[in-house]
Amino acid sequence: MNPSLRSAALALLTAPVFAAAPVPLSIGPAFYGDPPDETHPWGIHDRNRPQPPRVVAGTPSLPGQPGRPPADAIVLFDGSASALANWESDGKEGGPTKWIVRDGALECVPKSGYIRSKARFGDCQLHVEWAAPREVKGNSQGRGNSGIFLMGLVEVQVLDNHESPTYADGFANSVYGTNPPLANPLHPPGEFQQVDIIFRRPVYRDGRVVDPGYLTVFCNGVLVQDHTPLEGQGGHMRRTKPGPFPESGPLKLQDHGNPVRFRNIWYRPLPPRSSEGGTDGALTPAATTAKRRATAADLRSDAEQRQGTERLLRLAESLVYESEPAATKRVEELATTYTIGLKGLPSTELESRKGEILGVLRAFRYLIKHGKLAAGSAPQRELERIERAQAWEEKKK
Ligand code: MG
Repeated sequence: MNPSLRSAALALLTAPVFAAAPVPLSIGPAFYGDPPDETHPWGIHDRNRPQPPRVVAGTPSLPGQPGRPPADAIVLFDGSASALANWESDGKEGGPTKWIVRDGALECVPKSGYIRSKARFGDCQLHVEWAAPREVKGNSQGRGNSGIFLMGLVEVQVLDNHESPTYADGFANSVYGTNPPLANPLHPPGEFQQVDIIFRRPVYRDGRVVDPGYLTVFCNGVLVQDHTPLEGQGGHMRRTKPGPFPESGPLKLQDHGNPVRFRNIWYRPLPPRSSEGGTDGALTPAATTAKRRATAADLRSDAEQRQGTERLLRLAESLVYESEPAATKRVEELATTYTIGLKGLPSTELESRKGEILGVLRAFRYLIKHGKLAAGSAPQRELERIERAQAWEEKKK
């Protein structure tokens, strides 16, 4: 064995214990859909792709009754007086806010200033419900004005526009100063509006934009911002320019001089995008190679803990993600041992192992088709000979 093969084999033996759980067979077979490629670390219908995490869903809000957040949500305001402790004044020193909790709602006390969450976060799914004062006062930007400031920077406008016009890029559910909402689905003042926001902060690397950041917003179930790219922070009277954001920031609620009420405020941090090192979806070629290599290493570790055909197939499965000389050689050795063990077995014995044998042949054909194994190897020829001799070819059609 040459030194590089020996070190590769040694690496196989000393590889860390398999990190992922064994694949439940009910998910589906290996060697199935199109394999991973240069920018996709997972194959089509890939059974090794991680399962979505279980989240116990919440319940919808009713006019007089806030719903329950999803189980994994971080709750910023649940209607209790004690939830005020999740917030502070937005002054330099922070400190207690003068906003009050009344009838299960967090209410702006005019001229007391913005408030901010003590929690700091970035990309998120955010749920906020707000109600403009039932008693209508003022017009345009003066009627039921507040604001939801993501990371304390970008405002999704809160305003009573039920029957009150204003400049479009300052409308309720606008990205203030940047983009009007797609629709006006507001309930009358006094009733709670439900706002659901998907926020992705801008990502810059080495001074260059990798992802401009986006806001998607639903209000009362109606789409009002559709993956709207951020153009800086937006703001009053000024056109802002795109630029980097910090890693995280507080959620701020605006005091614009109107006693707007809020309830049922919660968020769920979002997983990183591929541009931030997330490993789902389409990736850069370098990130794809790294992820495929890690998956292959996990499968090879797992293979070493298995026996017989299971070990052979698991190791063969690793070649789908990464062509690696030592692993390829080991697959060929194990397959050779396997087919030698089949030689001379009576037809009835082969018939009883039909599923297993065809499973190995199917793995070979898949790996050959996708250029992971050379065609015409001795094990492949032997498996195909058995297939013909047992007349399995005809039956499978
Ligand atoms: Mg506002």
